[in-house]
Amino acid sequence: MADEMKKKFDSDSAASLVKELRRTFTSGKTKSYEWRISQLKNILKMVDENEKQIVEALRKDLSKPELEAFVSEISMTKASCKLAVKELRHWMKPEKVKTSMTTFPSSAEIVSEPLGVVLIISAWNYPILSSFSPVLSLDPVIGAIAAGNAVVLKPSEISPATSSLLAKCLEEYVDNSAIRVVEGAVAETSALLEQKWDKIFYTGNGRVGRIVMAAAAKHLTPVILELGGKSPAVVDSNINLKVAARRIISGKWGCNNGQACIAPDYIITTKAYAPKLIDALKCELEKFFGKDPLESKDLSRIVNSNHFARVRKLLDDDKVSDKIVHGGQRDETSLKFAPTILLDVPNDSLIMNEEIFGPLLPIITVDKVEDSFDVINSRTKPLAAYLFTNEKELKEEFVRTVSAGGMVINDTVLHLSNPALPFGGVGESGFGSYHGRFSFDAFSHKKAVLYRRFVGDAAARYPPYTPKKLRL
Ligand code: NAD
Repeated sequence: MADEMKKKFDSDSAASLVKELRRTFTSGKTKSYEWRISQLKNILKMVDENEKQIVEALRKDLSKPELEAFVSEISMTKASCKLAVKELRHWMKPEKVKTSMTTFPSSAEIVSEPLGVVLIISAWNYPILSSFSPVLSLDPVIGAIAAGNAVVLKPSEISPATSSLLAKCLEEYVDNSAIRVVEGAVAETSALLEQKWDKIFYTGNGRVGRIVMAAAAKHLTPVILELGGKSPAVVDSNINLKVAARRIISGKWGCNNGQACIAPDYIITTKAYAPKLIDALKCELEKFFGKDPLESKDLSRIVNSNHFARVRKLLDDDKVSDKIVHGGQRDETSLKFAPTILLDVPNDSLIMNEEIFGPLLPIITVDKVEDSFDVINSRTKPLAAYLFTNEKELKEEFVRTVSAGGMVINDTVLHLSNPALPFGGVGESGFGSYHGRFSFDAFSHKKAVLYRRFVGDAAARYPPYTPKKLRL
């Protein structure tokens, strides 16, 4: 069925798909606790029973190392699903709130109501979990189901093995009258975007984010945009350098070889400290990936030749080609690209003006570490920002003055794995958030309900508005 849809999915097919799912939603089926919990358990079972196939699909799409596939996709998706199963009753419960004198006597509550039929468009880098993995696709789906919606998932065509595995598995494990996968690229996504949805959740780049938002505006459809940007890491000098270097490497090259939305995009440190930092990065890189990283089994490859050419162009720019202090090796046939560090790249170079989304790490230097906050704030707001320091005041100033979707002090990317934290961007890095309870809320309408009785009816609120009533 997935193959069939891929070949001939057009506006008419999209319209009839939405109609079918809307019929299911209107029947009330997806709203019950029992339906939601059974679908969530089926997704858990699906991931459990298909672990090997998921690892293999991720290997085909990205040569993702097995351990990375387990940690960043399979175990995170399972954790997300288990949390939803455990907390669903609590999340669905109306929240009692205070009332005011104006409504006395009354009671009030906030009721979480499913939105209807929602569309989730995901990116290729974490195709499972959510927007940056094949598994990445499943995280918002889990939220949409937990909130009681019917849902269409459009995985990325750039990770085809994962996309087709997801389509096949979801067709087999979940209720197809309410949960569907549409495979395809721009034509299929455009056909889907013409339809009226009750929410669109998009993960990917800002250019397409704008297309999604414009399409949604026609139907007044709310959107969540999970975009990217240049996420900085500021490195102070009074730190445990070895640990910091390992954590930077893990967040950069240990996450899809830099093809992750929250991978550190560039580093800011002082002129004096840069040489020490570079030495530490080189030393730990060699320990992790060996003397010839192109041969390493622990580094993902670049996803395809277009992205390979894009990364190469960033490095071959005349303004930066003499700034490489480590790496630079690549092999176009295998799409392997070595971890590469550059020092003091100019502000107007391509690499400092585009999201790198690959294995290149420029370091820019400042006189005082505090100056780095102005550098960050002079650019568009990033999805993540990192700081390595032991100075309490510096940590506080960073949190207070730097605007970013999320931040981690003394590590990288790990905020993503805490479901108690909302995950999402701000400004150019997107808006709206998800993960854990935030995913449930992202796909719910918060309905305000006020309960009154017939007793205590105050005459003062009704006309005629006599002077006596005005004085009350
Ligand atoms: P992509 O190329 O897979 O595109 C994303 C989705 O948009 C796909 O499903 C694709 O089919 C669709 N699409 C592409 N062109 C389209 C068009 N013209 N009209 C309609 N739909 C279209 O992924 P990408 O954009 O290369 O992903 C990388 C970007 O995503 C980076 O900027 C990264 O930072 C960001 N990202 C963000 C997150 C997050 O959670 N915030 C996660 C992963 C990736």
